[in-house]
Amino acid sequence: MKRAVYPGSFDPVTKGHLDIIERAAAIVDELIVGVLNNNEKTPLFSVEERVNMLKDVTVHIPNVRIEAFSGLSVEFVRKCNASFLVRGLRAVTDFEYELQMAQTNRSIDRNVDTLFFTTELKYAYISSTIVKEVACYGGDISGFVPAPVAERVYDKISLKTRGNRSEV
Ligand code: ADP
Repeated sequence: MKRAVYPGSFDPVTKGHLDIIERAAAIVDELIVGVLNNNEKTPLFSVEERVNMLKDVTVHIPNVRIEAFSGLSVEFVRKCNASFLVRGLRAVTDFEYELQMAQTNRSIDRNVDTLFFTTELKYAYISSTIVKEVACYGGDISGFVPAPVAERVYDKISLKTRGNRSEV
C-alpha cells in the first residue's frame, strides 16, 4: 500500500493545492492531506474550517482523506503509516526552504521520502496569502480558489471587518 501525506496550512485551499492533490492521488493508493494546526501563525480559518473546505473540494477523489495534525510533519507521516511526503514547488523561491525541509525530514526518518510536484504554470503565482489579500480589497478570487471556498473567504473577511469596526 503506497500511502503519502500532503501537509500544509491550506488557509484556504487554492486551485494550486487542489491540482497537487489530484496529481499525487493519481500515483499513490492513499493520499492523506494533513492540515497543520499551528499555534504560532494566526490563520484566517480555524483548523476545522480548513479541514471541511478541503473535504468539500476533494469529494470527487475517492483515495483522499483529510486530517488535522499538529507538530512535525514527519511525525504525522509516521503516525499515518505513510512513506511519502508530498510538497509543491511553485518557483525557485520555494526551492531552498523545501530542499532544507526534505533533507531535515529524511535525517529524522530515513523511511520517509519527499515527492515534489512542480506547479501547473497557470497556478504558479497563487498562494493562500495572495488570495486573502485580494479578497480583503474586494478583488475577484474566483480564478484562484474553488467556488465554495471563494464564498467562505468573502464571508469570513466581511465578518472580520465588521468585528474590527465594532471594536473601534
Ligand atoms: P505551508 O505553510 O506548509 O507552506 P501551504 O498551505 O502554503 O502550507 O502550502 C502547502 C504546500 O503546497 C507547499 O508545498 C506549497 O509549496 C504548496 N503550494 C502552495 N501553493 C501552491 C500552488 N499554487 N501550486 C502548487 N503548490 C502549491
